[in-house]
Amino acid sequence: MFRNFKMVSHVVFGRGCFDQLEDILAARRSSNEPVVFMVDDAFDGRPLEKRVPLRDQDLLMWVNVDHEPKTSYVDELTTEVRQAMEKAGKDLPAAVVGIGGGSTMDLAKAVSLMLTNPGSSADYQGWDLIKNPAVYHVAVPTLSGTGSEVSRTTVLTGPEKKLGINSDYTVFDQIVLDPRLIAGAPADQRFYTGMDCYIHCIESLTGTYLNAFSQAYGEKALSLCRQVFLEGCPDADDKLMMASYFGGMSIAYSQVGVCHALSYGLGFVLGIHHGIGNCIAFNQLEEYYPDGVREFRQMLDKQQINLPANVMADVSREQIEKMIDVALILEPLWENALGKDWQKQMTRRRIRELYLAM
Ligand code: NAD
Ligand code: ZN
Repeated sequence: MFRNFKMVSHVVFGRGCFDQLEDILAARRSSNEPVVFMVDDAFDGRPLEKRVPLRDQDLLMWVNVDHEPKTSYVDELTTEVRQAMEKAGKDLPAAVVGIGGGSTMDLAKAVSLMLTNPGSSADYQGWDLIKNPAVYHVAVPTLSGTGSEVSRTTVLTGPEKKLGINSDYTVFDQIVLDPRLIAGAPADQRFYTGMDCYIHCIESLTGTYLNAFSQAYGEKALSLCRQVFLEGCPDADDKLMMASYFGGMSIAYSQVGVCHALSYGLGFVLGIHHGIGNCIAFNQLEEYYPDGVREFRQMLDKQQINLPANVMADVSREQIEKMIDVALILEPLWENALGKDWQKQMTRRRIRELYLAM
């Protein structure tokens, strides 16, 4: 069976296009329902705050992403929105808008889904478990690289697992890609999130699931990453934003690989964020991605990034075993990277060795 996948229906791109958000939302406000803005609290008190097109009845929620999104946090935010709607005498908001990096975009996706689906978000971690369409939802990225703006998943850490809510309903209805919004991100964070995109490309382009669709997007995204992180270019923010989009489209029709599987283990057990976890893992994967790792190290040098070392120093035996469990669940990632008989190559012992080297 070939995947029949849902894409974002509306995209606006360009420096300053954030100011069009007001008009885009006006078209949805047919009977005065509130719009919910979920904004990364890194912008609290910053100039962007004043530019959020809030009307009186709207709800501005500052979200905190010091920890990557948890199902418990999604449930809390959903309850907060429901209570605000009740107070306003409305059933549902006209829109949910996420303004921030991958974590904030994922929170906005998850809340828009949970407003129309009963129970806890943890009940829907998996594939195609969502029954009802989400509230109309919009993403405004302020970091580029995860591809969350185009993906059909929202990655959540639940009580038992780190796994996305994967469904056609998860996909944003509208994305607002304004390269000016990523300009102020701290250099190291910009690099780690940008490398998420670079690694998406390497894992997609070297994987066994590769096809012309994924290759077309992956090669373009890879070339943009090289321009941004190796060559340097005046319109780097524009290019990085498009790299993230194309990288996301590439993996939508293929899969990621060894690095992402290991990074999920780091995230679940040690709370290491996705971008930086990918970089720590990728640096140990020369055997699997020799050219990619070599080029990645050139990018580290060029961007003067010091990758954290010895992250396993204080990790217990149980924690390592749990990381291995989390990584091994991700069978499609291993199969994409190593082929159908991946289990012969990727034993618990080999995964342990890789983790211990980080
Ligand atoms: P992030 O959203 O976790 O943000 C990282 C840090 O940067 C936070 O402290 C945030 O407050 C800050 N920040 C964001 N934008 C900023 C700006 N412009 N200026 C200053 N600070 C800013 O980082 P990320 O790397 O974009 O996202 C990682 C998350 O995305 C993880 O939770 C991961 O699981 C998820 N993810 C999702 C998908 C998907 O398809 N849904 C894919 C990959 C990763
Ligand atoms: Zn990723």
